[in-house]
Amino acid sequence: MKNILVVDDELDILDTIIDTFEIEFEERNIMIYKAANGVEALELFKSDIVFDLIVTDINMPEMDGIELTQYVKGLRSDMPVIVFTGHGDMEEQDKLTALGVIAMIKKPYVEDLLEEVNNSLK
Ligand SMILES: [Mg+2]
Repeated sequence: MKNILVVDDELDILDTIIDTFEIEFEERNIMIYKAANGVEALELFKSDIVFDLIVTDINMPEMDGIELTQYVKGLRSDMPVIVFTGHGDMEEQDKLTALGVIAMIKKPYVEDLLEEVNNSLK
């Protein structure tokens, strides 16, 4: 049993990711959870659910993906985080690499994201 948390403030993108993941993972005992911003994500992260992977957007209200990654890494330094973001955010790459994110995948390439997620769950 594994748990993945997907975080994005744009609901259509969030649903696209969730749909893709559910098709891929439905028979592999992998649960997908979703959050619309860093605050919601952090609440789930601090709950009883033990996550194996977080996929997060960068630009979000309340708490962005960089701040979320900082918090999460502060609580669990080995927590795998993959960033799925728009082209304009790629300039944040150095900051995110320093924070220890596994990968930055450009939107809208959900198939690339899925490949990275599969690699990280091995
Ligand atoms: Mg966003």
